[in-house]
Amino acid sequence: MNLKYPLYINGQFIETSEKQNIINPSTGRVITQVSLAEAKEVEFAITSARNALDNGSWTQFSLFERKEFILRIAQGILDNAGELAQLEMQNTGKPIKETTFMDIPSSARTFEFLANNFIDYLGTGELRVLQGVKAELIHEPVGVVVLIVPWNYPFLIACWKLASALAAGNTVILKPSSLTPLTVLALARIIHNAGLPAGVVNIINGSGAAVGEVLCSDKRVDMISFTGSNETGKQILQYSSKNVKKSIMELGGKSASLVFNDVDLNVAVNSSLTSIFLNQGQMCTAMSRIFVQEGIYDDFLVSFVEKAKRIKLGLADDPQTQMGPLISDAQRKKVIAYIDKARAEGAKVLCGGRIPENAELKNGYFFEPTVLIDVGVHSHIFKEEIFGPVVLIHKFSGSDEAAFLANSVDFGLAACIWSKDLFLAQELARKLNAGTVWINTYGMFYDQLPYGGFKQSGFGKELGREGFLEYVRIKNVVLDQSSEGKPLVNYWYGF
Ligand code: NAD
Repeated sequence: MNLKYPLYINGQFIETSEKQNIINPSTGRVITQVSLAEAKEVEFAITSARNALDNGSWTQFSLFERKEFILRIAQGILDNAGELAQLEMQNTGKPIKETTFMDIPSSARTFEFLANNFIDYLGTGELRVLQGVKAELIHEPVGVVVLIVPWNYPFLIACWKLASALAAGNTVILKPSSLTPLTVLALARIIHNAGLPAGVVNIINGSGAAVGEVLCSDKRVDMISFTGSNETGKQILQYSSKNVKKSIMELGGKSASLVFNDVDLNVAVNSSLTSIFLNQGQMCTAMSRIFVQEGIYDDFLVSFVEKAKRIKLGLADDPQTQMGPLISDAQRKKVIAYIDKARAEGAKVLCGGRIPENAELKNGYFFEPTVLIDVGVHSHIFKEEIFGPVVLIHKFSGSDEAAFLANSVDFGLAACIWSKDLFLAQELARKLNAGTVWINTYGMFYDQLPYGGFKQSGFGKELGREGFLEYVRIKNVVLDQSSEGKPLVNYWYGF
């Protein structure tokens, strides 16, 4: 893989005069410079995607040929997995263990999974409506789809969206976060080598503020699939309302983990640490509120804090590193501001809450794992997404109170329940206002299961049959030969 990361539009690699520095969050140093799209490149991308859909060969390929294209992308990712993992690690600050074993291989698996399943997901569609009246249900691509992805899982989330959108036959414009465009821009070469026709996939790096409105309001775009913050999601919905278009919104979270008295304490503590501190807490499904039943609350808290202090912060390229830096200085400042606010609202910081003093880490955007208690249920920190390594731990007595506390925020993305009483856990899962509930586990995303939030966490699904069908539009074609070959409508006026 080369060190240049141009935009990819209409099958061409394009350098622009506008450049942007890409920073390694572990060191604060510039990794490389990438091209930035402006209005001209956005226009080119929309025209190309539209043309590839309306006039190109892409929609003429059989489903089996489409499957071959998608499998070639999967293979291309696997063939370049080591370099992609390095690149993702450098650009995001995720520990190399995570990018090597999670982000990159599971992205390839999503392409493989879709390739092997989308034909079944489409199903067959002939219905007998009445005697002599039949309908064919045709599954078509929605059209030109804009995919906008965030910086916390830049490659993985782009691949979730891209695999479904392509399997459904759409043409796409993919916009990574301008903080983390490298692996997505590197994917352009893989897609190019997989032989997809020009214009089917267009990848443009650009700041959302500069290109978002043009991209999301244009009439030639049929759908927006967005993952990111609520604020941006609301803005995009406004843009897209200028010309009606379908959208899916995967937004923020303030997820709750409910830990009951009967758990194995070690398992619950270890898993709860992962559920908030993985990826430095920069996960939409981070369990940033942990509620522990009163019988084990004290023991849980002591053990959790003791282990949180032992999490090894380090440079992302060190295989021993357990926690890397936050994505940027701005993100770290936001986290610090939330902790200051929490303190002002009466919360106690049991550990962390500081920038580490280790000299090796001084130029990166590191922050210690932070545990808060005494956080009021009406306080900002209880309700708002922080998106950093900060957790609040709170006591509850019974399962009704646990459900009430879990549901008492505006978000509804995910939840965890830890208990040996599976009947209780399954009943409680039904009461939780969350699109995903993990019982005695955390963070298990399966390609076959639809994932997406409720309430302010958005709408629409990723993955699974339902996630794939988001990128499909359904047409029904009615053939009426009900009465001696004449349609029923023929008799209305009695002529
Ligand atoms: P963000 O909203 O700042 O940016 C997301 C994307 O939107 C980026 O590509 C950005 O360039 C683009 N963007 C920004 N302004 C835009 C505009 N005006 N028009 C069009 N595009 C614009 O989010 P972020 O900081 O990159 O990511 C963190 C957020 O993402 C958190 O809130 C997190 O919970 C959420 N997230 C949600 C999920 C989920 O599945 N629900 C997954 C990952 C992250």
